[in-house]
Amino acid sequence: MSKKKRLTRREFFRDAAVGGAAVAAAGLSTPTAAPAQGVPNRWDKAADVVVVGGGCTGLPAAIRAAEDGASVILVEANFDVGGHAIVSGGNIALGGGTSAQKKAGITDSPDLIFSDLTDWSVVQSNGFPDYRYNDREIIRAFADMSAPAYEWLVAHGVIFVDRAPDAQGGNSVGNSAPREMHCAAMSWAQVQSGKPVDPAVQATTSSGVGLIRPLEAAAKKAGVQILLRHKMTGVFRQAPTSGRVVGVEVDAGGTKLNIRARKAVILATGGSTGNVNFRRIFDPRLTEEYNGVAGEPYSFQDASGEIAGMAVGASLWGAYNQTGEFGAALTKPGQIGCQYGYRNLQWRPGSPVFKLARASGLRVADWQDVICVNQAGRRFYDETAGQFTSNNYKSIDPYVPGSYLNAANIKYNPPNFLNAALAGTGDPVNGGGPIWAIFDADAVKRENWDPNPPNVDIEAGYCFTAGSIAELASRIVNKYQKKPVPAAVLQDTVHRYNAFVDVKKDADFGKPGPRYKIWTAPFYAAWATPVVHDTRAGLRINARCQVQDLNGQVIPGLYCGGESAGGFSQHGLARCAVQGLIAGTNAAAEKP
Ligand SMILES: Cc1cc2nc3c(=O)[nH]c(=O)nc-3n(C[C@H](O)[C@H](O)[C@H](O)COP(=O)(O)OP(=O)(O)OC[C@H]3O[C@@H](n4cnc5c(N)ncnc54)[C@H](O)[C@@H]3O)c2cc1C
Repeated sequence: MSKKKRLTRREFFRDAAVGGAAVAAAGLSTPTAAPAQGVPNRWDKAADVVVVGGGCTGLPAAIRAAEDGASVILVEANFDVGGHAIVSGGNIALGGGTSAQKKAGITDSPDLIFSDLTDWSVVQSNGFPDYRYNDREIIRAFADMSAPAYEWLVAHGVIFVDRAPDAQGGNSVGNSAPREMHCAAMSWAQVQSGKPVDPAVQATTSSGVGLIRPLEAAAKKAGVQILLRHKMTGVFRQAPTSGRVVGVEVDAGGTKLNIRARKAVILATGGSTGNVNFRRIFDPRLTEEYNGVAGEPYSFQDASGEIAGMAVGASLWGAYNQTGEFGAALTKPGQIGCQYGYRNLQWRPGSPVFKLARASGLRVADWQDVICVNQAGRRFYDETAGQFTSNNYKSIDPYVPGSYLNAANIKYNPPNFLNAALAGTGDPVNGGGPIWAIFDADAVKRENWDPNPPNVDIEAGYCFTAGSIAELASRIVNKYQKKPVPAAVLQDTVHRYNAFVDVKKDADFGKPGPRYKIWTAPFYAAWATPVVHDTRAGLRINARCQVQDLNGQVIPGLYCGGESAGGFSQHGLARCAVQGLIAGTNAAAEKP
């Protein structure tokens, strides 16, 4: 037996918390939360309801609770509110018979949403079902609250782009009706650039800022006390696995504060994909090199809500929804040569977090212009192939709810680019390692790229250039590149690919008509490693958004919603806003 001392549960979480503080001090995300179990000797602040996280779930929760008469403190780890929602595309799938749907003559109802989002027969072309493992109770609550949530957002100042609901930006939102609404960017500054969008398109551009800034104003108007740079590090429960949740522990710039919640705590912390150990519970392949989490470095999906909840007995829920191969939990990058390459988010030098992002990346218009190689210098898949898909309006046409024909009509055609990228190179280690896009000076011209800072991140090792392929291989030095790229292998890969271009046939991976040779110096290697994105599994909740323990018992006084909650396979804003409203309503109605 190992001589190493086994940590008790309490010691484990305490040590994790110390490590987290050190990371926070270094200006990075804190990876874990501590259990602040038991009732502390002193309270520094108190409110009826304490909301943790000021994003798409937390702001509606806080406003709703405050408008229902509760005093509310919202603690937010970041320097500003918004979370991933503020950098989002602002496409929000609220249907079920909204006034916007009615105006456009679209038929929808709560029953139709419920039927769509629980349909066992809907599968993607790789056979993965989007909705089969959804928790029926949670989906019913969402279906019933979807249309009222839309009207609530309008009443709280959100301006929607004046056009009929459509399917743009949809991701597992149901097949039967167009439900995507679009929050207008208006004149608020975009976090990604530091500037508003062009005045000519402010009312027609969909953007998360158009959702968050009105909600921030509504929260302040409702009397919500927003505490920025206050990171929740643990939840207080009367006893480790029994009694009520009575407050939270917060780190405010190195000072620990205990905030009492007379009625309830609502965890709205935004998910777990930025926490390597936590995300690997669901997918062991997702090791450290997948460091370009979408939405970071603005706000961090560090699983702190989930860990704090679990430390007081909460269960996880709906784990399949995180590993199922659909949607955007894992994505192919849209930009290369930078750490943060999520396709729908490009950081610009004017952004308040550009110092952390360091580069904007080179947006790839045509994947014919590059080859992608793994850390051993070998190609692994057709570079033009896409990522996983998901079910949206008219994805299946004709669609008959619950019919075996829905699966029979789908052509089996697995989108396996990401699986091949994560496969590794045969060593007994998890993770596929860095993926490098290799291209030449001609590709730079065709794509109209400027492969220099601030477009690419040379200093931190996300983009390299050289006069020959062999030299390029030797230049690739990055902390996730465990061994040097073998120069002979990379040369051979390029040589073989160029031969495929001659005959217009990729004998290895079937890339359709490989078009361009990699031929003209200088040559480039740019980071093109897959990006992790949304969380679809988290704490177990019921229809009221109350958190439940491993015995299925409600943990009194603890609520959760959005990406930190489990049981609901859907990307994005709609489920978060709806669950925020549900949690806020029920939290405010608790007896103190
Ligand atoms: C680039 C991008 C584009 C997107 N586009 C769309 C889109 O068009 N449509 C769509 O439906 N969805 C979109 N999404 C997804 C959507 O933004 C998220 O699903 C949604 O914002 C999640 O809401 P949330 O409340 O769970 O988390 P968030 O909105 O991320 O809010 C969580 C908040 O909690 C804070 N927090 C975390 N831990 C703590 C702690 N311990 N203490 C205090 N505060 C804490 C965070 O700082 C953050 O502010 C997009 C996401 C990204 C990144």
